[in-house]
Amino acid sequence: MTIATTFPLSFDVTPSTAQRATAERDAILADPGFGKHFTDHMVSITWTIDGGWHDAEVLPYGPLSLDPAASVLHYAQEIFEGLKAYRHADGSIWSFRPEANSRRLRRSATRLALPHLAEEDFVESLRQLIAADGSWVPSAPETSLYLRPFMIATESFLGVRAAQKVGYHVIASPAGAYFASGVTPVSIWLSTNYSRAGKGGTGAAKTGGNYASSLLPQQEAADHGCAQVLFLDSVEGVYLEELGGMNVVLVYKDGTLVTPESDSILEGITRDSILQLAEDRGHKVERRRVRLDEWVDGVASGDITEVFACGTAAVVTPIGRLIGEGIDVGSADATAGELTMSLREELTGMQYGRVPDRHGWMTRLDR
Ligand SMILES: *Cc1c(COP(=O)(O)O)cnc(C)c1O
Repeated sequence: MTIATTFPLSFDVTPSTAQRATAERDAILADPGFGKHFTDHMVSITWTIDGGWHDAEVLPYGPLSLDPAASVLHYAQEIFEGLKAYRHADGSIWSFRPEANSRRLRRSATRLALPHLAEEDFVESLRQLIAADGSWVPSAPETSLYLRPFMIATESFLGVRAAQKVGYHVIASPAGAYFASGVTPVSIWLSTNYSRAGKGGTGAAKTGGNYASSLLPQQEAADHGCAQVLFLDSVEGVYLEELGGMNVVLVYKDGTLVTPESDSILEGITRDSILQLAEDRGHKVERRRVRLDEWVDGVASGDITEVFACGTAAVVTPIGRLIGEGIDVGSADATAGELTMSLREELTGMQYGRVPDRHGWMTRLDR
């Protein structure tokens, strides 16, 4: 194995001796759920302060060996990404804007004081995993193989500073159709007791700590019969930020799409793509600060006709109702908005190869 950093990295492959039989894999792919089952292999690359990135490998899927003093376990120095591999009708396997995920991983790395992984190595890590586990990409409508790259501080050291040893891994999990019985609007809980991210904090980075702090408000949402939490800004508590893991878009009756802009929001690739598709159709798009009142008053007056959330896992989720302390707008049994559904259809059409890829967003992963 090479110790010095080579560019691009070359991967050693160790095939699993415990690969699932075809029948077992097919049974899983027939009803994969989300994040429950994992493929036969994983990617692992090591970084050290002296050696840079090295020891790029495809290994049998299995537990990581971490020293109990590994700093990720104590100080949460970790980042991740989430994207999907889609099977097209001709059997080929594609991902959607992986270079955008790679750029975001580097932005998150900067904020979490982790090393940068080159785009070429990031995309190659996905290709390597697909080369080993391509048969795990399902082919039923709206199914995919969810890819989860992540980076963790593995140095065993309890002092508080950026780790000098880091692991990058990619695991993959087959994903079923998110809305198996049709896309139906969800109710959202407005969190007024908790914020997702603070000014100058890590809100714009895809890091586990943001999720850790969203779990309690998420339970509060569930207690109120809601699927997700909407967070407001932490300074004034009046501006919309996002849901725990999805961005929010408001649609006005004149066709304008409005989405919150803030340096504590995680900038979704799904949102960016949806807004581009809307602009392509001639819709006006506004990325700006948005007050909660604007949503509440707009829905009440009829000026806002649709609201949706978006992110890789569910693509686009219509929001029917927003409830919270002293707030109740919309209706739980609203129907999904027309523009919401048509943008969803166009985006998934591109991802599954049914609609021409006019922006060059698709990258083939199986060679
Ligand atoms: C990943 C994520 C999103 C959605 O990003 P996509 O690139 O569209 O999947 C939105 N908010 C948060 C907090 C996220 O972690």
